Amino acid sequence: MANTVHIRRVAVLGAGVMGAQIAAHLVNAGIETFLFDLPAKDGPANGIVLKALDNLKKLKPAPLMSASRAELIQPANYGSDLELLRSCDLVIEAIAERLDWKLDLYHKIAPHLAEHAILATNTSGLSIQSLADGVPAELQRRFCGIHFFNPPRYMYLVELIPLLKTDAALLDNLETFLVTRLGKGVVRAKDTPNFLANRIGVFSMLATIHHAEQFGIRFDVVDDLTGPRMGRPKSATFRTADVVGLDTFAHVVDTMTGKLAGDPWHAHYKVPGWLAGLIEQGALGQKAKAGIYKKD
Ligand code: NAD
Repeated sequence: MANTVHIRRVAVLGAGVMGAQIAAHLVNAGIETFLFDLPAKDGPANGIVLKALDNLKKLKPAPLMSASRAELIQPANYGSDLELLRSCDLVIEAIAERLDWKLDLYHKIAPHLAEHAILATNTSGLSIQSLADGVPAELQRRFCGIHFFNPPRYMYLVELIPLLKTDAALLDNLETFLVTRLGKGVVRAKDTPNFLANRIGVFSMLATIHHAEQFGIRFDVVDDLTGPRMGRPKSATFRTADVVGLDTFAHVVDTMTGKLAGDPWHAHYKVPGWLAGLIEQGALGQKAKAGIYKKD
């Protein structure tokens, strides 16, 4: 089988914070894209996707999806539209950061993928090997991590995380696509908890939270110090957590909990109680219009 894939059509699985924006970036680059999510329990089957796309069009100061490209995107759901996957060269999975949910979905979609298609996960830091173990043996050579950063339209970096079994030529192919079609800078990372950027990012966030608690500094003061005063207009510590999604941030922290015993900071790699409390109340950050900051 040829090891070159011309990526002309892509499916993105998950129309949440990341999936919807990755899909928008793809269509803005002129690539036909199917954006999948769960069929809604009530209302239109593609309700989750349509709502996500609508939000992207309304975003200020600039919509994340250009109106002229909107016809390149097609909303889809795992209930009735799985056959659409057959025509896709690349499938990017961007559903919630739960190993069991991702594995369930792979099981459901695998029979519908084209023989040449690449399946890549946007996981923030779950073990790529554990995810690959859940796909059919033949598909494992076409499986890897493809970690976009939030917001994917503006963040240059994409981490590619191959496994030993990943086909080297397909990976080169994917990297060329990311660089030449999507304008990204690619770093290849090893399959370690949270890979490279999030390993550092989670440490930095938790260290900031720890010191803020220790010295009694309010979160808005921390954000002022780690934001505008450092020349970062908005992306400061707590605001970033709201933008990422507090549930997603907690999952990314969980990925490191108890795993890095040799790290002098390992005892701090756990979700603070107050943050777990916000998540329990449904205050998940910007996507829920309530989080550490009430409204964004
Ligand atoms: P999100 O919570 O915004 O969206 C998750 C999506 O998954 C939702 O659309 C939901 O309908 C869908 N979903 C939930 N349960 C499902 C199931 N059982 N089967 C199929 N679909 C299901 O999450 P997100 O922030 O977009 O994160 C998606 C992935 O991207 C995660 O793996 C996350 O770690 C990763 N990621 C997130 C960020 C970020 O800043 N939020 C950045 C990089 C990578």
